[in-house]
Amino acid sequence: FPELDIVVIGAGPIGLTCGIEAQKAGLTYVIIDKGALVNSLYNYPVTMTFFSTSEKLEIGGVPFISDNPKPRRNEALEYYRRVTLKFSLNVRLFEEVLQVQKTGERFQVQTSKGTYSARKVIISTGFYDLPALMNIPGEELPHVTHYYKDPHYYALQKVVVVGASNSSVDAALETYRKGAEVTMVVRGPEIGRRVKYWVKPDIENRIKEGSINAHFNSTITEIRKGEIDIQTPNGKITIANDFVLALTGYKPNFDLLRKFGVQLSEVEKLYPQHNPETMETNQPGLYLAGVVCGGMDTHLWFIENSRDHAEKIVQHILEQR
Ligand code: FAD
Repeated sequence: FPELDIVVIGAGPIGLTCGIEAQKAGLTYVIIDKGALVNSLYNYPVTMTFFSTSEKLEIGGVPFISDNPKPRRNEALEYYRRVTLKFSLNVRLFEEVLQVQKTGERFQVQTSKGTYSARKVIISTGFYDLPALMNIPGEELPHVTHYYKDPHYYALQKVVVVGASNSSVDAALETYRKGAEVTMVVRGPEIGRRVKYWVKPDIENRIKEGSINAHFNSTITEIRKGEIDIQTPNGKITIANDFVLALTGYKPNFDLLRKFGVQLSEVEKLYPQHNPETMETNQPGLYLAGVVCGGMDTHLWFIENSRDHAEKIVQHILEQR
């Protein structure tokens, strides 16, 4: 493995942007991902529509042309793949980064396939790999999932959707429209305020007319094969159930960040420590880019407002030369 200027961990939209900026600056780099290209987007629901318009998802100055104002997952996969090919980015896929350690002036980056030596390392690992668990009995059962993929699978089944954010609302509406009997279990008193403005009235009206059942101010207390217990404001109830879609959010891999030497804030949100001007962490030469920066606040960063992390980092690296 060659000695490089930069190793970028994660080939999501922001990791790719880091590669583009490094390449433009004449630096040597590799982008390493444990999964497929733009792995998080690949694992989104197949029918998913972005909340961002296409120009806000653009990277490297390449126009994202879409028929729809808000592009769909498949179009985004196509776009980021084409951008990767256009720039001939140096990407290695299905290779997991296991450890990052500084020895003298250089980092040793150990992966599932070997070791790289780099002057700088950029962590752009996102937050979609680890679900925020409910921590209740039965959560590990095979009919419970934290990743909803495709509505057809749930046709004619009794489905419980946990949560009331965009992912939950999309899953509830889509599975209902494929003939599932849908019950939502929502911790708060109402549908999430960040739900896409064109989708919110749809779910609220389906609940109002009784097409989709919803228990607000409620939580699941136990999942068993064939039924679940729900704690509602009117006491505990048990309902029949075939599948649970627990779309309770995701979180960055904090253990990995700690292992790489990044300090996390003590407060609940576990913000990884970094200088917002340069994106450098408490470890000189180790940078953060993209949505991983927000800690548990996964709504803080998205593609549009974190694309410029790449430019800031490469600028800082060049200034230090
Ligand atoms: P990611 O795209 O998550 O990329 C991280 C990459 O790091 C992954 O490919 C992962 O496999 C890789 N990785 C992780 N750990 C390792 C490791 N140890 N070794 C190697 N590789 C590793 N944002 C928007 O801007 N607009 C939207 O409309 C939008 N819609 C969304 C809808 C859903 C359902 C979800 C979940 C998120 C949405 N987001 C949206 C947020 C979106 O995920 C991010 O904005 C975007 O993916 C962030 O890019 P990223 O490069 O920071 O992280």
